[in-house]
Amino acid sequence: MVLDVPAGTIARRELITVDEGGSVLEAARLMVQNSRGSVLATRSGEPVGILTERDILKKVVSKSLDAAATKVKDVMTSPPITVDYNMPLREAIDLMVRKGLRRMLVTQNGRIAGIFTMRDILKHTRTCLYCGKEIMSILESKTPDPFIECECGSRYHTKCAETVVNCVSCGRTIVTNVVYPEPSETFSG
Ligand SMILES: [Zn+2]
Ligand SMILES: [Zn+2]
Repeated sequence: MVLDVPAGTIARRELITVDEGGSVLEAARLMVQNSRGSVLATRSGEPVGILTERDILKKVVSKSLDAAATKVKDVMTSPPITVDYNMPLREAIDLMVRKGLRRMLVTQNGRIAGIFTMRDILKHTRTCLYCGKEIMSILESKTPDPFIECECGSRYHTKCAETVVNCVSCGRTIVTNVVYPEPSETFSG
């Protein structure tokens, strides 16, 4: 089953890094150049934190801080949350959902070895991002699960989508009209 694979198997190996003493502006430029949503912060070459596009929006831009004068170490998440390469993907997804993370660093033999994002998970699974269980299609089950797909590609069981309302991955509203049955409908006949 696809969710039982080691989490590390879907991680990308190449990570972009910036010294924690560098400016947020420098880090942001690096992220744009490499089309990445995060950068690994290092101290003397050793990874010590992660800076994401969301960190920059929340902690720098929205507070009108000067990105050129703000150091990476002042706004990064340190130490970063990581999972071991061999952790089942199912458990890694569960952790990401609970912590509200869109990306996860993978360690191998205690060293950071790669990173994967919610988007990478979607490419490999048909997992409901709310409950972490597989969405059964007609290929696997005679009673396929009804599901809702967000504009970003994330999928949810229809029931889960009504509970979560806003997409875990991108924050968009995925259910705009939750319909509750009228009392008269439940007592039909
Ligand atoms: Zn679900
Ligand atoms: Zn979404």
